[in-house]
Amino acid sequence: MLWRSCVTQENKARSRYEEDVYVNNHTSVWGSYWRDGTWGYACCHQTTKNSYCLGKAGTQVKQEVAEQMIANMEAKAAEDAAALQK
Ligand SMILES: [Zn+2]
Repeated sequence: MLWRSCVTQENKARSRYEEDVYVNNHTSVWGSYWRDGTWGYACCHQTTKNSYCLGKAGTQVKQEVAEQMIANMEAKAAEDAAALQK
């Protein structure tokens, strides 16, 4: 959980007025991210307003899911190829 310590250090460095702008530990404001017609937070790619920030883990999870999907597709293709050879 390296990202967690990074986020904490960032928050300590932030000035008072910035804390008032960035809610729920987000490091970007609502509306800094846009996906499928929905606004969200650029820092964690969440599209639920006033949700608690997941930080880099939020974007990482999505990346891992995408990578997992590609891996699954490749595994399926390999399976199909093996099945054809039988
Ligand atoms: Zn966030």
